[in-house]
Amino acid sequence: MKRLAILSLILISSAICAQPKTVCSPDGRLKVTVTEDAMYSVLLDGKTILNPSRLGLNTNRGDFSDARMTEAVNGRTAYDYNMNSIKKSSVRKEANTLICTFSDSFKVEFRVSDTDVAFRYIIDNPSWAGITILEEKTTFNFPAQTTTFLTSQCDAMSGWRRTKPSYEEHYALDRPLTEKSEYGNGFTFPCLFKIGEDGWALVCESGTCSQYCGCRLLDWKEGGFQIGFPMPGENDGLGSAEPAFSLPGSTPWRTIAVGSTLEPVAESTVTWDVAEQLYEPGADYKYGRSTWSWLLWQDGSINWDDQVAYIDLAHELGYQYVLIDNYWDKNIGHDKMEELIRYANSRNVDVFLWYSSSGYWNDIYQSPVNLMENPIVRKKEMKWLKENNVKGIKVDFFAGDKQETIRLYEAILSDANDYGLMCIFHGATIPRGWERMYPNYVSSEAVRSSENLVFGQEECDIEAQNATILPFVRNATGSMDFGGTILHRHLSRDNEHGTLRRTTDDFELATAVLFQSPVQNFALAPDDIVADSLAYAVDFMREVPVTWDDIRFIDGYPGKYAVIAREKDGVWYVAAVNAEQTPYQLDLNAIASMFNSPASVSVLHGGRKSEKVINYKAKARSKAYKSGVISLTEGDGAVIVIN
Ligand code: CA
Repeated sequence: MKRLAILSLILISSAICAQPKTVCSPDGRLKVTVTEDAMYSVLLDGKTILNPSRLGLNTNRGDFSDARMTEAVNGRTAYDYNMNSIKKSSVRKEANTLICTFSDSFKVEFRVSDTDVAFRYIIDNPSWAGITILEEKTTFNFPAQTTTFLTSQCDAMSGWRRTKPSYEEHYALDRPLTEKSEYGNGFTFPCLFKIGEDGWALVCESGTCSQYCGCRLLDWKEGGFQIGFPMPGENDGLGSAEPAFSLPGSTPWRTIAVGSTLEPVAESTVTWDVAEQLYEPGADYKYGRSTWSWLLWQDGSINWDDQVAYIDLAHELGYQYVLIDNYWDKNIGHDKMEELIRYANSRNVDVFLWYSSSGYWNDIYQSPVNLMENPIVRKKEMKWLKENNVKGIKVDFFAGDKQETIRLYEAILSDANDYGLMCIFHGATIPRGWERMYPNYVSSEAVRSSENLVFGQEECDIEAQNATILPFVRNATGSMDFGGTILHRHLSRDNEHGTLRRTTDDFELATAVLFQSPVQNFALAPDDIVADSLAYAVDFMREVPVTWDDIRFIDGYPGKYAVIAREKDGVWYVAAVNAEQTPYQLDLNAIASMFNSPASVSVLHGGRKSEKVINYKAKARSKAYKSGVISLTEGDGAVIVIN
């Protein structure tokens, strides 16, 4: 009976809808075409970004990838929202929409703004309560000249105490389209593509909540990169790799930020445009800067005396937070922690505390363990946190991307919100619109972060290269807790042993602006603030904002160099870093002229801050700062503050 009904619909549909349907961006430059047989393609200024690529889902209710389009409706939507936890504080933009109906139960919704394409599958059938998605057929079929900037998905249950995958692999840059992933498991989002000279595209997903799993891109095959579900081996093989949700319902959004340069990629807000807030904030969450002993002083520093030193450091710097990492339960204990938190509060410092997420899903012994998995235990712990005025938690070592783990993230966030707690995740997946969906969500690691600089010299050797990649990929689609800005020369407590930093201090200051997270756990140490040579750097770190009003891409190429400007209350901070042997020439006049009549321009470079090197109030633009160009050698950086 059902098959007959679908057949008759197909007959009607072909009569209605033989022509491909199109939807263009409001400025007309970006164009999506959808054909009757569920293929879509993307053009920018008439140039191909995506060749015909597949749409469709195979489900326990039938295979929707063979359905024919019966109806297509064009429309328009607008995004209008304010947030202070992402790269822009105010977003106002429009998108044209196209909703394609492929059967009674199955629709695809497209939204096309001037800088991005987003689409999702909508499923509704009055006689079905739910649906299991067996396979997502969606592909991204890039033209042959495309090169890729991708990070591979590692094997399930690999790495430290069987904690992977956790989005901490290296990037492979500018590789051929057809090159296989490092472990044969495809690639983790976000995925960046350079379509020869025709443009750039950043593919990701957004809106992922407890109703779905986290997805990835499978290795290239003829016809494109296909969306893949989690690997069956994640979560120690337990839990389904196939997502299921109640109806009516929809999949997460598939998002593609598109531009002729990297500007729309770096500045894209599509991740948050399409996401919706899922609950009201349970407290007036305040973002800010934090000290964090673990990076340089490591596990041994999680004791009363050392944490007092880091609370005092936060106080001295005017920082709002201290993050107390693993083993506080054993080395200090819950009872003494109450006293330590009171001490922090007496110094105007609030506290974030570390927890393990586990759980059966790995062999982590760093404690506290077993307090975040079970809702009864979790809420009891969160009640204690609230009673003791703790403001946030950092939960580490999650199981992977299966729906049951996404459910755990959402459960922790939702419970934490009830107790007025913010959440940072480590050993974790990327956020997928979570800043907007969950108002107490702060940031995730999900990157090869600063801890690796401690673990191996080879990571220090590529620190600069890593920093030039992240603004265009990982950090372009979500807040990133990198835990950086290291002023110690060696990554150790005594600053004499351990791995050796290859970057300049100015480079490290630049990353405080380059990397975005509304709570930044900076890796400063108590001895930094008494070192004369670092006085200019510490002064900058007392002032640098962590929430931003706007972003501007100035220059960059992943793996080579990056110049990104961020605005806070009318002041622009331009961060520049170079990873190439060839010095990067930073033209102060060219950059200053990009901003409207700045009153002053000051430069942090060469181990000092130059005040008002350009003063447009006093001088004509042509008489500006004489040399005007800063040469950034490999591993060097600079910050230009434009007021
Ligand atoms: Ca980690």
